[in-house]
Amino acid sequence: MNPKIYLSSPHMGGTEQHFVNEAFDTNWIAPLGPNVTGFEKDLETYLGNNSKVAALSSGTAALHLALILLGVGKGDEVICQSMTFSASANPIVYQGATPIFVDSEMDTWNICPIHLEEAIKDRIAKGKKLKAIIAVHLYGMPYKVDEIKTISEKYEIPIVEDSAEALGSSYKNQKCGTFGDISILSFNGNKIITTSGGGALVTKTEVLKEKAVFLATQARDQAPHYQHSEIGYNYRLSNICAGIGRGQMEVLDKHIGLRRNMNNFYKNIFKNTDTISVFTEPNSDYYSNHWLSCILVKDADNKGLREEIRLALEKDNIEARPLWKPMHLQPVFKNALYYGEKISENLFKNGLCLPSGSNLNIEDKQRITKILLKFSI
Ligand SMILES: *Cc1c(COP(=O)(O)O)cnc(C)c1O
Repeated sequence: MNPKIYLSSPHMGGTEQHFVNEAFDTNWIAPLGPNVTGFEKDLETYLGNNSKVAALSSGTAALHLALILLGVGKGDEVICQSMTFSASANPIVYQGATPIFVDSEMDTWNICPIHLEEAIKDRIAKGKKLKAIIAVHLYGMPYKVDEIKTISEKYEIPIVEDSAEALGSSYKNQKCGTFGDISILSFNGNKIITTSGGGALVTKTEVLKEKAVFLATQARDQAPHYQHSEIGYNYRLSNICAGIGRGQMEVLDKHIGLRRNMNNFYKNIFKNTDTISVFTEPNSDYYSNHWLSCILVKDADNKGLREEIRLALEKDNIEARPLWKPMHLQPVFKNALYYGEKISENLFKNGLCLPSGSNLNIEDKQRITKILLKFSI
């Protein structure tokens, strides 16, 4: 059996261990320390736009704190892009609020402005309290930033920007992770950079950042003893993990270049067919890190072509995965409200994520090419 080719696997740059060793040498084996502070600074510099970053234990923790900071609670409603990873939506439920799911559009595969506004109007007409809109840059592709922002401002509903998959992507030359009222990043093992597990909350003010750190460190009041006036969480990033993050920041842009090469690699494979299209930016306003390269199969007669491709790859130990199954189709959210048509459903049915790592070698690419070329005529 050939060695397994993964969709996206960790890719170390080389200096990560230096920062980790430094943590050991100085005994900063704790969820605070120079690597945590250093990693936050690196991210703030990279994102620009006056970003203030709180490093946390996961992207999910960051989403949870974002909703808490926006005052989401029992009885509130939160709008969420339906096609996404479940971690975008779960924190709504942690807060006792109700998720309202909205369909995607075809240009970016992200939240559809038309159905978003339809949902907002309908919920307001029914007297509901909408507390936030969770918009996601899936696979690194920026959502329709201007259109979504206009709607958010018109109805005065803040945006939680889920940029877990989009560190290094940009829209009109502004980095993803800086568009939300609050934004989040993830450094899980399969993301564009990894700290093994980790995430970050991005805000515009030092005050909000400090509030996030306060909540993430058990909400301890200023007192010599342990005193608490609020419910806290244990969500801070370990100083060891943050060391990995500092090393990863040094190779982030290089790795994005390699991921973008993977996207071109697939475009080249499928250049002679109209049946399979490679997901790409709708125009030059959008710049995707191409965290994952995806294809969409035209399967008018329902012959199951997408599965045929996936299984052919699987046979050679090459991982490929259908796109995110929309939340409104998930058993756990079967009673949730949904606004839209069947865009996300069709994407789920006919879309496939292909191996996209920045560390795929020539032999890997030859194995992938050999199988996919059979489908490219
Ligand atoms: C990975 C991911 C998250 C969650 O991040 P974790 O660090 O794994 O908790 C949230 N949203 C999206 C879209 C993701 O891909």
